Amino acid sequence: MNKKDIRSFTFEELKKEMEEIGEKAFRAKQIYEWLHVKLADSFDEMTNLSKEFRNKLKEQYKIPQISVLERQISKIDGTNKFLFCLEDGNVIESVLMRYKHGNSVCISSQVGCRMGCKFCASTIGGLERNLLPSEMLGEIYQIQKVTGERVSNVVVMGTGEPLDNYEHFVKFVRLLSDERGLHISQRNITISTCGIVPNMKRLAEEQLQITLALSLHGSTQEKRKRLMPVANKYELSEVLEACDYYFQKTGRRITFEFSLVQGVNDNDEDAEELIDILKNRNCHINLIPVNPIKERDFQKPSRKRAENFKNKLEKSGINVTIRREMGSDIDGACGQLRRRYVEGK
Ligand code: SAH
Repeated sequence: MNKKDIRSFTFEELKKEMEEIGEKAFRAKQIYEWLHVKLADSFDEMTNLSKEFRNKLKEQYKIPQISVLERQISKIDGTNKFLFCLEDGNVIESVLMRYKHGNSVCISSQVGCRMGCKFCASTIGGLERNLLPSEMLGEIYQIQKVTGERVSNVVVMGTGEPLDNYEHFVKFVRLLSDERGLHISQRNITISTCGIVPNMKRLAEEQLQITLALSLHGSTQEKRKRLMPVANKYELSEVLEACDYYFQKTGRRITFEFSLVQGVNDNDEDAEELIDILKNRNCHINLIPVNPIKERDFQKPSRKRAENFKNKLEKSGINVTIRREMGSDIDGACGQLRRRYVEGK
């Protein structure tokens, strides 16, 4: 029999499961607490359940295991990079960043990615599979367990396109923010998307308070197409409309991400076109000097050039930051830790 993934059930679903196997509803409360507060990885840890009941659970359910394969700690800023191993042998990476306002974790939403953005290491080997809600939670739970520190912010900006794994992603958000679990505020959860329009609109209607970040990377439809194959499917105007819809429905200010690539999207014309897009929108833009990856020939602009770009936007009244590079001594760009591992096998 295929065992059900017990950590991916919402509290309501778990209650129903317990009823179906002839157990009292309060069992759901006990188990949910073990899984999502005490972060148990096995049924045997659930010591307030009888052995007999634990055995019954083991027959029908499983807790998908996720274990630390490698951990790197930056000497510069305390950033931790984790490589995790999943039950089927796949590996994923997550990053813990320490800020004054708390600990932030960047998680993966898929094993690999099929979006094909030109400068991104995560997409080079294509998509392997979607992550389960329990596996996305597992990245955060393991980090809390290993470090003994509380995670207060979560950004879904690791490997994968979260809106290409829609149902699992939304369930993950509900579980992570549930007051009966880790209870991370939805306002402290950010999802980054390359712009899958129908699912952006769907997300706007979920009545969530999470922040939506859009990977823009090009200031016109044509320029965007050069870096992001997904732009062949959705016009820039449609993507921006979906952003407006998200803001209208949720009241959450949109974050735009713009990876600066030297000689590709970092000149004055790009800045001016960007200003036209952003000036009448309630938003924030994050400039990310591109992290060069060895498979491609993209370079980041000089610090001065990036600053000039930023100043131009700022002068037009746009909210802009240049993303601070974290953990630069421990591994290169997004997705590179996993790639190095997969390649080395
Ligand atoms: N699939 C999501 C999450 C991707 S990672 C998305 O497309 O938004 C988060 C951000 O990092 C995205 O904006 C992505 O385009 C960007 N990114 C990926 N690789 C990068 C690199 N080598 N340098 C700079 N930014 C990169």
